[in-house]
Amino acid sequence: MLEAEPHAKQHQLAEQGAPATALATPAGTQAPAPYIIPPGPSPTASEQAYGGPLYDQQPGATARAETKANPRAEFDRLAGGNVHFDKAPDEITLPQAAQKGLQQEWDASKQGTPGAQEHGGNLVRNHDGKSNYAWRSGKPGNDQMYSPDYDDVGKGQKLVGVGHTHPYKNGKENVSFSGEDISSVVDESQPINLLQSGKTQYVIARTAEFEASLKKLDDDAKERLKHSIEGTWYAAFGPDGAALPDGAYQQRVERAVRVTCATFDLAYYSGQGGTLKHVV
Ligand SMILES: [Zn+2]
Repeated sequence: MLEAEPHAKQHQLAEQGAPATALATPAGTQAPAPYIIPPGPSPTASEQAYGGPLYDQQPGATARAETKANPRAEFDRLAGGNVHFDKAPDEITLPQAAQKGLQQEWDASKQGTPGAQEHGGNLVRNHDGKSNYAWRSGKPGNDQMYSPDYDDVGKGQKLVGVGHTHPYKNGKENVSFSGEDISSVVDESQPINLLQSGKTQYVIARTAEFEASLKKLDDDAKERLKHSIEGTWYAAFGPDGAALPDGAYQQRVERAVRVTCATFDLAYYSGQGGTLKHVV
């Protein structure tokens, strides 16, 4: 790996804005264009609605199959990996181990204080049970970064997810994945990433299409892909993060995540209380 901490889950604070380097298109790479904003609430409408109804305004919700799949089993399917982008579950229920684990990490994150620090852990699945998951708490990061320990897996367990938190010294909540969070998926192999910020939980899952896009990529090509993912995120987020009032910042992060996941065939979910809806 070319970077010192290639796996770190780094996120930029609003006050820092977007680093200029992340906006540049890497040499030899075509930035994905055009950036297609997934159908959904307009920024103004969803900004007003933020905190609740955002999750109910699902494109395609009316086209849902009549027989509703069991969201717990659907989580198992997603966590099993290789789900096709257009066959991703409409709704998932996080296992108790993940819900409790994320909440415990959030409670330890010192949100809204000068000592705010990202916490996280690993969601592992025991070989002997279909829904038998466990949470393994990791070492805390700092106020902008959490570094997962992908090797922290117990005997007879398999790593299925890595989770972390987004606390802010200034108390911002409901802040979704950063561009760096998403680009780090390129170097990972576990099927899902989880995140909690305030009461909101988020999941990003690799898909069969994403796996296919990684095949045949050497290390240099993977680095370019990571830059492209981050560039897409920052382009969709837009400039001047520091000037954004609370609410507008979260909305732009949300838009950036939606555009990035749609562009790179990653499945994206958000919700509260362990019930997460398919967003992209
Ligand atoms: Zn993060």
